[in-house]
Amino acid sequence: MSVTRIIHVPQYFLAKSRSVVHLCSHPHVSMWGLSRWKHSNAQRYKAVIFDMGGVLIPSPDALAAEWELKNCLRPGWIWKTLVSGENRVAWDRCMLGKLTFEEFVEVVTADQTPDLLKSYLQAIVSQQNYQIPETRDVVQCIRAEGLQTAVLTNNFWCKGQSFLPVEKADFDVIIESCREGISKPNPAIYKLCLERLRVHPEESIFLDDCGLNLKQAAQLGMNTIKVKDRATAIQELESVLGFPLLGYVHGTQAVRKGMEIPTDRLKEYLQTTLGLSSTEPLTLRQFIHGQSNPTYHVQSGNRQLVLRKKPPGKLLQSAHAVEREYRVMKALSAMGVPVPRTLAICEDPSVLGTTFYLMEYCPGRIFKDPTLPGLTVSQRRDIYTSMNRALCKIHQVDIRAAGLEDYGKYGNYIERQVRIWTKQYRASETHVIPTMEQLIKWLPNNLPTHEKTTVVHGDFRLDNLVFHPDKPEVLAILDWELSTLGDPISDVASNCLAHHLPPKFPILKGLKNHDLIEFGIPSDLEYLTLYCDNMGINPVENWNFYIAFSFFRVTAILQGIYKRSLQGQASSAKAETAGKLTEEVAELAWVFAVREGFQKFKSIPMKNPTPPVRKYSTWSRQSSSTASSLHHNSRQMVSVPKGHLIISPDGLPAPVQELRLKLTAFMDKHIYPQEQELLDHQRAENRWIPNPIMEELKCEAKANGLWNLFLPLKTDPGIKYGAGLTNLEYAHLCEVMGRSLHAPEAFNCSAPDTGNMEILVKYGTETQKEQWLRPLLDGKIRSCFAMTEPQVASSDATNIEASIVEEGDVYVLNGHKWWTSGAMDPRCKLCVFMGKTDPEAHRHRQQSMILVPMDTPGINVIRPLSVYGMEDPPGGHGELIFENVRVPKENILLGPGRGFEIAQGRLGPGRIHHCMRLIGYADRALQLMKERVKTRVAFGKPLAEQGTIMADIANSRVEIEQARLLVLKAAHLMDTVSDKEAVSEISMIKLVAPNMALRVIDRAIQAFGAAGLGSDYPLAQFFGWARALRLADGPDEVHRAVVAKLELKR
Ligand SMILES: Cc1cc2nc3c(=O)[nH]c(=O)nc-3n(C[C@H](O)[C@H](O)[C@H](O)COP(=O)(O)OP(=O)(O)OC[C@H]3O[C@@H](n4cnc5c(N)ncnc54)[C@H](O)[C@@H]3O)c2cc1C
Repeated sequence: MSVTRIIHVPQYFLAKSRSVVHLCSHPHVSMWGLSRWKHSNAQRYKAVIFDMGGVLIPSPDALAAEWELKNCLRPGWIWKTLVSGENRVAWDRCMLGKLTFEEFVEVVTADQTPDLLKSYLQAIVSQQNYQIPETRDVVQCIRAEGLQTAVLTNNFWCKGQSFLPVEKADFDVIIESCREGISKPNPAIYKLCLERLRVHPEESIFLDDCGLNLKQAAQLGMNTIKVKDRATAIQELESVLGFPLLGYVHGTQAVRKGMEIPTDRLKEYLQTTLGLSSTEPLTLRQFIHGQSNPTYHVQSGNRQLVLRKKPPGKLLQSAHAVEREYRVMKALSAMGVPVPRTLAICEDPSVLGTTFYLMEYCPGRIFKDPTLPGLTVSQRRDIYTSMNRALCKIHQVDIRAAGLEDYGKYGNYIERQVRIWTKQYRASETHVIPTMEQLIKWLPNNLPTHEKTTVVHGDFRLDNLVFHPDKPEVLAILDWELSTLGDPISDVASNCLAHHLPPKFPILKGLKNHDLIEFGIPSDLEYLTLYCDNMGINPVENWNFYIAFSFFRVTAILQGIYKRSLQGQASSAKAETAGKLTEEVAELAWVFAVREGFQKFKSIPMKNPTPPVRKYSTWSRQSSSTASSLHHNSRQMVSVPKGHLIISPDGLPAPVQELRLKLTAFMDKHIYPQEQELLDHQRAENRWIPNPIMEELKCEAKANGLWNLFLPLKTDPGIKYGAGLTNLEYAHLCEVMGRSLHAPEAFNCSAPDTGNMEILVKYGTETQKEQWLRPLLDGKIRSCFAMTEPQVASSDATNIEASIVEEGDVYVLNGHKWWTSGAMDPRCKLCVFMGKTDPEAHRHRQQSMILVPMDTPGINVIRPLSVYGMEDPPGGHGELIFENVRVPKENILLGPGRGFEIAQGRLGPGRIHHCMRLIGYADRALQLMKERVKTRVAFGKPLAEQGTIMADIANSRVEIEQARLLVLKAAHLMDTVSDKEAVSEISMIKLVAPNMALRVIDRAIQAFGAAGLGSDYPLAQFFGWARALRLADGPDEVHRAVVAKLELKR
């Protein structure tokens, strides 16, 4: 594939809907929708407004005439009677929505035959009224040219809804008199319509069959067409607009200016080559899709064809290679790949000016929205499955048997692509995009090592497929412009880009944040697995690389577009949008590059069995590594084998070391200097109002990538929510955060949110995740966990008495809770509540957990509780009464009776975080102690030289080191074995860490003298929290009991 071919913008970026930008690299066609075919008149008008009765649906007058004839009534009698006298008043009220149609029918009076009038009225709203098919054609043709359409009707309420038997989706604006309370010819209703269309009167054309209504429209400055007979009106509208209004074919518009084809010569060619009749009229429309090689729908009699040709004018050498498309489709068709049937290729320029080919038009369904609206869950699954199979069919083609050996180069496809797209990007670079710079360095260093070579489509995605009208079967794969020989996984990756784009992404609707399980759509990893199964190949290990590469390619394309939009006539707003998109997609690419980096260092086998050498007594010393960037070095510095217990930060993988360095720097720069102010706020009168300093710290931490580091890779294997660290890696970072009581919240790593977020990741439905997990991950809200109750020994969770009772479609909660940490915080929006749904069930199946919005009526916060007088504002520890709190049933987590199971799950990582932090408390206390004793002299020598002080220092160091090793071991087992199998170590460390911290902090306090108990140093607070943690995560005795029981079983 040559460079010039590659610069063609894939169909991905060709507009598929009216709201979408139109892009093309062809010199004749400018970017961002400026290329639309426009006739001079069409440019003058921006909207066409249709009356309904007599224009879009049959006229009630025509029906009345039939009835009059049948019943020997005077012509015009029906409507004259209906709109005169009392009937008139009622009819007007009906149009204004004040009477329903049924009520109007009841009040209709007539000197004679009121029953006849009534049955006529019933007939109007019955099956005889439907949108006339050719008017749908007209409306769609108008919209295909970029004009808006509207319905402006005097209608009424009938059978509980407004009477509107037209295809609503075809109209940008619908104005109904019964909804608005005004009717034509009141000028206000026309103005309303124009206002909603955002057009001036002279930019609109109004079609109605009623002279009075038209007169008013004309007086307002609108252009009008009277619809006496439909055919004449359509012709008139055609000549006003300047483009044809019949023969609409999905995805087409009128042939664009400069793209016309000599129809006589085409007719002649079709006759001689395909034997088509020369007497049948030939109609041509141009596909909106495929602007670089103009593509036409050709209709001759019943035969529908597609013609694709090189554009006119001087072309870049080897660009617009329609011959290649023809060749590959023909070859693949013979190999059973679903492609449109090719009919003929003509390379004689005397026929249509440039080379073209013909294929059969393949009618069917094309899905532009990847969520497949309107389909059922199983239909969606089937559509994705058949897309997957279609892709496999391409990749399974025997290149030699298909005669395509010379269709591209063998091997190193990705490497060539990276080079070409980098070059392409550089050629259109307008400013430095740091993430692109990182990608340009990262991609060549991470290329796949084992590439297969198959036919690749180059732009394989859902809306390039034509599906059978009823069955989940791909009938044809379109758009072969970028096809070549290459790495098949690149096709799978570009097929999955939509999975990672937001639903409203401007150039392609995405699936991100959608509940794919609910939709029945496979996740990208499931889709990949299905592909690998279908192909019979091993799982793709470097999937994130391929996604990163695909987004990189897209970024390079978008940058080209951005540059052209700056140079061209695009508005600055459009250019700015293009620029933002470019950077957004580059960021996305980088997200996947980072994931790939993390994945890689976790899977690299140990080459050298010698563990990293730990530098003695340098535990809390910063690593001497001077890695400049977390990501740049990920490849070179990966040194940590899977399953290796890393006891020193020096042994962490480079990206984690880098994170730790950043974190330490952040603590030095932002946390320690503000500790006193943060503490003062906690004692101030306004302490229950969140401190703005904390909010600033959060922003800063987020901007530094120090956010949500807590969520373990095991819980979040796709790294969808967290940073993808293992528990062991996080232990090293969490200890640093533990050095200040204020730090964890700044990094969104504080309890009880971390535990609750983990619950939501593990057990929440997609809807629950969207509603609660997302804002928690963003740090926008906070949460609490309500289990403990004052009236029962809550260390035994089976004692919990709060009730959760099913009542219709809600659960009703009653209970008394206390020590609910975080409940006082005004940002606390969610409570994870534990109670009993079935007191009769097995003792471990009685409890359930349910998500309770904190603003639900019936939640009464009674008071904040304090630990040694510390209230821990603004979160606090609340005592709460839940009184008849009604919560939707779907808020239950995992299902009734599963509360214990979830509580067990919650005891995992979230709980040993306290232990990790306790090491930090203790280490900081020891550090402060050492500094203090070196500077104070008592009885003739520095305190540091007093034997007892030295013994205290030594004991503290020994105990910290011991406890740290046990924390790391527990974390490591959780990573490499399971939380369940690590239960003994988890219990041990919960017992060891707070007790160790208490002793170390106590020694430090003693060495500080009275100052140690005051608030000038964090020691007293550390002590208080370490003491509380001998209870908060369950009392020591309970952990001891667990260890003992397991020990006795050994
Ligand atoms: C600062 C702080 C924050 C907290 N945050 C929360 C929160 O957010 N949400 C929440 O639901 N709870 C929270 N708690 C409550 C905490 O989980 C409970 O205090 C703990 O589970 C113990 O329950 P209890 O207080 O009812 O004590 P009890 O169960 O009454 O136990 C009292 C004592 O009995 C002894 N004991 C218990 N079991 C045994 C045994 N097997 N063998 C020997 N002796 C035993 C122990 O000495 C124990 O301390 C918090 C507590 C504190 C101090």
